[in-house]
Amino acid sequence: MESAKFVLEKDETNSKKDKSIWRANINTPDEVEDWLKEYKAASQTDWIVKDEPKGLQRVEFHKYWQCHLSKRNKVEKSKRNKICPVKLDIKIKKINRFTIRNDPKYLGREIPLPAVITMSNDHTHPTKGCFETLGYLRISEETTEIFYKYFDEGLSPGAAYRMNDLSVKLRPNSGELRANSSVNPTIRMVQHLFDNWRRSEFGQSWGTDPFPKLREKIPAYEAEGTSIHIDDSDSECWACVVVTPIMKRAQKLASSGEIIFTDSTSNVEFTQSTFTLMLTATKGGAVPIAVLIHSAQTTACYIKAYKLLKDNYPNCFGGKEVSTLSDVIHKLI
Ligand SMILES: [Zn+2]
Repeated sequence: MESAKFVLEKDETNSKKDKSIWRANINTPDEVEDWLKEYKAASQTDWIVKDEPKGLQRVEFHKYWQCHLSKRNKVEKSKRNKICPVKLDIKIKKINRFTIRNDPKYLGREIPLPAVITMSNDHTHPTKGCFETLGYLRISEETTEIFYKYFDEGLSPGAAYRMNDLSVKLRPNSGELRANSSVNPTIRMVQHLFDNWRRSEFGQSWGTDPFPKLREKIPAYEAEGTSIHIDDSDSECWACVVVTPIMKRAQKLASSGEIIFTDSTSNVEFTQSTFTLMLTATKGGAVPIAVLIHSAQTTACYIKAYKLLKDNYPNCFGGKEVSTLSDVIHKLI
């Protein structure tokens, strides 16, 4: 139990065969969390909070945990249920003249050690350095941040998983790190992270009603030059037009007044919607003039999407005026 920040000393007098007691210069609940973080990393263990008694009179703080491979919160057949009985108990004693009188050895010194850390029993599974146990660790905060960054950049869960695995492979001691799921989570854990990230980015109801979150984000997109127009008056048949700055420029090209190539992809994302790309030919290849997102591939839905485009971008075909919807459809056929 070595630490750069904390002083730890084993209380040999009170420690027993199945219970080791340590004293530490941990003074606040925040410091308990800091120490626990260091301890988790050093011992490659993880802990589930069992209880944190409130309204304490005699001590400053008291909280206890169970090894994460205990039977707590698990079904009997779970691979993570190692029926591990190890408990971790941390108390912070008050420091005053009465407590110092009772505990002079640890409280009466220049740097007092008010925290009493009790670890009971032995783990039923190997801890540090055991590849099997490493695979059960939860994703660390640092790893979560790395993955959130990948998702922000548009990577799918599978691509983010491969990217992270590759970067872990390049690190020293990569064999052990790759087996450590707090650094290199499994694809299932990554999928779960992705679900959390998507909920925070796109809202709770993404998949059934994406529009509240999308409307909230319109000003942010607009500030970057991307325009979004929505027609969700009918929840069964809705449409949305997305036009980015490069698409706005492509709309002005002469080629956009001649031929537009259009193609739809279906069942995109969780809304199972359709993406219809409208592309014009440029010297650099095909460039979209708009992206239409609509709920289904019915005539009514296509008409709704094209109407939304025409209403908002009447001159989108090379600057030529489009007077009627049939004009748009004519341009597109
Ligand atoms: Zn354990």
